[in-house]
Amino acid sequence: MPTPVFRRTIPLLFALVSAPLGLVAAQQHPLAVYISADMEGIAGLSSMQDPMGPKLMTREVNAAVAGAFAAGATRVVVNDAHGSHANLLVDQLDPRAILFRGALKPYGMMEGLDSSFSAVLFVGFHGKGKSLGGFEAHTGTNEIADLRINGVSVGEYGMNTIFAAWYGVPVAFVSGDSLALVQMRTLVPGVAGVAVKTGIWNEAVRTLSPDSAQAAIAREVERALRGRLPATLRVARPVIVELDYTTSVLADIAEGIPGVRRTGYGTVSFTTPGYPEAYRMIRVLYRHLRP
Ligand SMILES: [Zn+2]
Repeated sequence: MPTPVFRRTIPLLFALVSAPLGLVAAQQHPLAVYISADMEGIAGLSSMQDPMGPKLMTREVNAAVAGAFAAGATRVVVNDAHGSHANLLVDQLDPRAILFRGALKPYGMMEGLDSSFSAVLFVGFHGKGKSLGGFEAHTGTNEIADLRINGVSVGEYGMNTIFAAWYGVPVAFVSGDSLALVQMRTLVPGVAGVAVKTGIWNEAVRTLSPDSAQAAIAREVERALRGRLPATLRVARPVIVELDYTTSVLADIAEGIPGVRRTGYGTVSFTTPGYPEAYRMIRVLYRHLRP
């Protein structure tokens, strides 16, 4: 597979427009790499209750860490970004990586990412809520039917890609189920990645073996970071967020928050001057509201 490259503008609807040029990682020193790791898109898992989940997630993250260092990384940060955010087996994590662990972090799945990084990698990612053909497809929680940022419908892959873009950092690689890659490439065409499994309905998969998936991830991460990285998206200001809940009750509660507007049966909307504060509010609205 050739090194993914795109130099053309990114055809996105509404307010997301492309930066004119990509970045050339191979010419960047130091090469600082940020990894956000979820669990649904880890090879071999057909249930989030599988006791092998933490071990297999740790091995896939280690494969990405190894690929990054093989490409010349000088710093690799890993953010455990699934559920409790305390899944990775800390005693088995590649000792060269720095770990962010624990769920209540201001910027959740992207905690610690800033403009000092050269590239972001997503490991174990999955499709957005209410989309067919993905394993455990959801956006944040199963209470969210859709999330739109400046009019563009995105899942977790998208809200995190836009967070990185805000700091000028491109997403260079995605692994997860095949739907995650398809949806990610609607946002960042041609981004490098490995589809380690495919959803059969929402609760079953056809999967690579963990060993095969880990080898492919290490190889493709190295290749991606040695090649030309995708352009970063430019995020228009202000940032307009719309969030559809699957039922009305969470929208009933959310509209009590100053600045949150009720715009439909289960839909709320809010506007922020910049994206980091929008990201925090999205997490409050999908993760911390209770009926
Ligand atoms: Zn997730």
